[in-house]
Amino acid sequence: MFDKLHEECGVFAIYGHPEASKMAYLGLYALQHRGQESAGVATSDGQETYCHKAMGHVADIFTNPVLSGLPGHLAIGHTRYSTAGDTVLLNAQPFSVACNKGRIAIAHNGNITNAAELRQELERRGSIFQASSDTEVILHLIAHSSERTLAGALRDALLQLEGAFSLVCLAGDRVIVARDPNGFRPLAAGQMEFSGGRVCSVFASETCAFDLIGAVYLDDVNPGEMMIVGPEGITREQYAPAQPLAQCVFEHVYFSRPDSIVFGRPVQESREMLGRLLARECPADADLVVPVPDSGVTAAIGYAAESGLPFRYGLIRNHYVGRTFIEPSQAIRDFGVKLKLNPVRHLLEGKSVVLVDDSIVRGTTSRKLIRMVRQAGARAVHLRISCPPTISPCFYGVDTPTRNELIASHNTVEEIRRFVEADSLGYLSLAALRQAVGDDERHEYCYACYTGDYPTELVNIEELMAAKPKRC
Ligand code: AMP
Repeated sequence: MFDKLHEECGVFAIYGHPEASKMAYLGLYALQHRGQESAGVATSDGQETYCHKAMGHVADIFTNPVLSGLPGHLAIGHTRYSTAGDTVLLNAQPFSVACNKGRIAIAHNGNITNAAELRQELERRGSIFQASSDTEVILHLIAHSSERTLAGALRDALLQLEGAFSLVCLAGDRVIVARDPNGFRPLAAGQMEFSGGRVCSVFASETCAFDLIGAVYLDDVNPGEMMIVGPEGITREQYAPAQPLAQCVFEHVYFSRPDSIVFGRPVQESREMLGRLLARECPADADLVVPVPDSGVTAAIGYAAESGLPFRYGLIRNHYVGRTFIEPSQAIRDFGVKLKLNPVRHLLEGKSVVLVDDSIVRGTTSRKLIRMVRQAGARAVHLRISCPPTISPCFYGVDTPTRNELIASHNTVEEIRRFVEADSLGYLSLAALRQAVGDDERHEYCYACYTGDYPTELVNIEELMAAKPKRC
């Protein structure tokens, strides 16, 4: 059985660069926010495959000696955030194996909703699994396929998957990338020029990875599409029939960096508009707009611009909080939050403050932050959230706790306000969220976490609902 179902990750791939592993390292460095538990790079020189993965941050893992051990002009990379209790190296990606179809390395972002069923069936047929990650299922499906080519076997495997996947593969002298037919998770395609005007192909979860290596964003891998880059050039193939689009709106609300273009749309634009619309829907009688850094910053800028209230950094974030800090043996109240954020008393003292954050999950962070802002002298705290109440868990790759643990699933806005101890609480409406991401006329996004309306059939909904991943 899988002990975890929710995974947030970043993926990267490059074909045709003499320093492919270094480019993958840089790409992952820019995607670090998508996962901080483990990272890995697999490379190929067209014949041999090399792979290195470890727990920790990209910059700590990929030292010069490690990168020198990853030769070749093809590379894929992965950075992974997993839930507590499941942070074993065995689950780190890429997975690199030799099977009856040749050598293959694979990395994936998303969550395959029928992975447990597929795994049971594969185990019945004799497959032996090493990890608890659903990515391994794809490799076994490839090995079991009656198709003879790797691309054919991959197509065969993908057609059996349900849910969300944006994946990158190294298959001998080819890079193959694919996206699920609903397009839940992003996957951008680009091109990079290097020495003497030569060009190579690159792929990444977010375009901020392209900016760092000097690549240009050309297009997205389309939902249901597979792109193969090899010695013969690039081929694009619609491997699955088109499905209604269900792009993850939370990428624009929280997950992606504001300097990225995600699903063909600048995240900055969406996020600032979320803040502007929030100011229109939920105004506040206040002196200052203060973001919860970093996730609330861009929406707070929008809120301030629309409301005419001054924007101030009233909470300062320590960016160097690692996992290895030494906790005091005597408990200090709210230690975790204090370690990360500290209020600026000079700004907050005697003020009525609009505190802007992207979401409330369990409500415990907001409560601690509001207490902190009050202790720093604020006379009133008006909490504003740049999306609707999160009432349902995500099964497509965003880490959310079970429904019961989501405060908005069983409390009214007034009850939540009392729990977080705010003077007032306002959430953005679903209609405004749709407007902010340019989806009011179209129907291209998934809003399941706000509506409970899942865009795909979930064969094992009870099991998915009962799974209990912990947020770190
Ligand atoms: P909570 O205390 O559970 O209400 O956590 C709310 C905080 O978690 C907010 O500041 C959000 O920015 C942040 N957050 C929301 N969703 C996620 C997620 N999927 N992964 C990590 N952090 C998140």
